[in-house]
Amino acid sequence: MDERRKLFLKRDPYSPPKDGALFLRSVRALTEHHIRNCPEYARILEERGFSPDMLRSEKDLYKLPVIPTLYLKRNRLFSVDEKELRVKASSSGTKGKKSVVGLDKKSLRLGIGMMFRFFKYHGIISPVPVNYIVLGYEPSAHADMGAIKTAYGTTKFAPALSRTYALKDTGNDYELNLEGVKTALIKAAKSPFPVRFVGFPPYMYFLMKMLKDEGIRLKTGRRSTVLLGGGWKGFSGLEIDREEFLRLLDEVLGIGRERCFEFYSAVEHPMAYVKCSEGHFHIPCYSRVIIRDTASLEPVKDGEAGLLSFVTPLVTSMPLVSVVTDDIAVRHEGPCACGLKAPYFDLLGRAGVSGIKTCVSGANEFLGGKDA
Ligand SMILES: [Zn+2]
Repeated sequence: MDERRKLFLKRDPYSPPKDGALFLRSVRALTEHHIRNCPEYARILEERGFSPDMLRSEKDLYKLPVIPTLYLKRNRLFSVDEKELRVKASSSGTKGKKSVVGLDKKSLRLGIGMMFRFFKYHGIISPVPVNYIVLGYEPSAHADMGAIKTAYGTTKFAPALSRTYALKDTGNDYELNLEGVKTALIKAAKSPFPVRFVGFPPYMYFLMKMLKDEGIRLKTGRRSTVLLGGGWKGFSGLEIDREEFLRLLDEVLGIGRERCFEFYSAVEHPMAYVKCSEGHFHIPCYSRVIIRDTASLEPVKDGEAGLLSFVTPLVTSMPLVSVVTDDIAVRHEGPCACGLKAPYFDLLGRAGVSGIKTCVSGANEFLGGKDA
């Protein structure tokens, strides 16, 4: 398994995949590990007629059966004793069911090492102390949503002078705290230290709109940074134009577009993708993106829309090697006008939201998942 360290601890996350063989060997070894340790997963692969020796080249990766994130919302798949899990996170589960994802020590160590390299590459790790404005939930004992942990984890990339949360813990629930955020922000803008915004785009937008409507213009400094993740889920229809968002950021907070980072991640695929200056999510060497037909789950050609699926040999505690989300995306080969040669994907929306009924629930039943 030491080969995985070589893959995940690369200094340049977008280095060209001349190491395709390393990726393939890591995927094969990890799949064998899950077959040995997770009988339920072994059964799924056997029913789909898959065996790891079918993975002879990168082109074969699509053959590794995908586990739908929906399946993980209803079934638990673990390859280690649950006692060995160091962190557990659940998806936001706005419609009731949640995926519970757990990482053991080995996966966690590898994941943290990877994230450190990745964020360092993007200039997000800094020794300069900052005031954090978290446009999300305050961590609390009564919630274990992955989004909260991610947001809190993100406040570790630069030392914290303060942390102010837009969704404040009241002890058993959350309340919106935009006024508190505004006060903290005005104070922080007067300090010589940068401000770091972390959280969901809709709240960032609400905040900027509120400041603009009140005629407030702040200069938070050139080193101030915005880290956005979690997309616009639950706020569909509100999504504003990215260019307008970036203009507002510069106008109201004095933050340039090069200091605004937008991430894509999923609880079931604990990895981060960052949007480049051209608005694309480039694919680092740690994973492969396969876009699949919404009906057959077969791969579609580059440039065609389909379900976003990932392959990565990161997690030892759960068989998350090949997962399919309910997001609709398009993949393209590089190079890109931003300068990166790595391939990328563009997110088009969520399958449910865009009205496209997918076969993911069908695939869930096919895998023997509990009823929807
Ligand atoms: Zn790009």
